Amino acid sequence: MLIMMKSHATSEEIDAVCRKIELMGYRAHPIPGSTRTAIGITGNQGPIEAAAIEALPGVGECVPVSKPYKLVGRELKEETTVIDLGDGVRIGGPELAIIAGPCAVESREQTRTIAAAVAAAGARLFRGGAYKPRTSPYSFQGLAKEGLEILAEVRKDFGLKIVTEAIDVESIELVEHYGDVIQIGARNMQNFSLLKRAGKSQKPVLLKRGISATLDELLMAAEYILAEGNYNVILCERGIRTFADHTRNTLDLSVIPAVQRQSHLPIIVDPSHGTGRREKVLPLSRAAIAVGADGLMIEVHHQPEEALSDGNQSIHPLDFEQLMDEIRQIASVLGRTVAPGSARKT
Ligand code: PEP
Ligand code: MN
Repeated sequence: MLIMMKSHATSEEIDAVCRKIELMGYRAHPIPGSTRTAIGITGNQGPIEAAAIEALPGVGECVPVSKPYKLVGRELKEETTVIDLGDGVRIGGPELAIIAGPCAVESREQTRTIAAAVAAAGARLFRGGAYKPRTSPYSFQGLAKEGLEILAEVRKDFGLKIVTEAIDVESIELVEHYGDVIQIGARNMQNFSLLKRAGKSQKPVLLKRGISATLDELLMAAEYILAEGNYNVILCERGIRTFADHTRNTLDLSVIPAVQRQSHLPIIVDPSHGTGRREKVLPLSRAAIAVGADGLMIEVHHQPEEALSDGNQSIHPLDFEQLMDEIRQIASVLGRTVAPGSARKT
């Protein structure tokens, strides 16, 4: 059930409704909208006695929820959520969020070289895994805390916001301490204890679509995070497993408008994991922006052939600069922007 407050409801009236819901033994989730506040209710097993709430001052109407999710849906909040990371960096607003960097933090020098290049091209967020969920236990697993410290230096020295992955409930504490956005990877999309723990974090969460997840499964995974009180979730399409074998995964760009119809959460696209092939990253980045994504996550490496993970899909900094130039033009057609770069063209 959703409680739609009247547009002129006061904060005292909203608080009183939340208190009433909590007294009934449920959890209240007040979500301010542009015209009025909606309050989601979770924690109930069966139907909720609406009459007691409806009678309270400031309440407009009690609306039953028709979807299996309550907090991620547009029924609760009409306008797209904009996540503010500070220093003018927002995800979900008119400026596209471009997250770029290596698959993994390999060394201080490697990380700083790539950070300098992507910052100069206009990226405002930096990616790089310090904990890597690898298919083989013998592959490079990441530098862990040392990697997070390198990322913190990158934030300080290059002014980039840090997006980095937590692979389990053990690693999330350090990740939320050092990072600006906690990434939850495709393999962990239904790791419910990790989702609940991320829901208790103060940091926004970037939730990647599972390797074979449906749209509803993705939204329900996000719901786990919101249900714990963290409303700052960014969804990410990163390709799904299909019978096609000309790419690593099949990038499902049709999910973007489908998500936008159902959910107020911002959604970005990762064409690097989505295709697994360097030469496909630029064309699918163009398409992702054209289809209406709120941003991109791109793997960039200055020596892709030497990369310790995902070299095949990592693009060179010069190609990243070209990508940024092209998506800047596509974005402008759609009334969106991409931060300017400082890199000079030769
Ligand atoms: C990554 O972003 O490096 C990653 C491991 O992605 P995914 O979880 O989408 O495979
Ligand atoms: Mn990767």
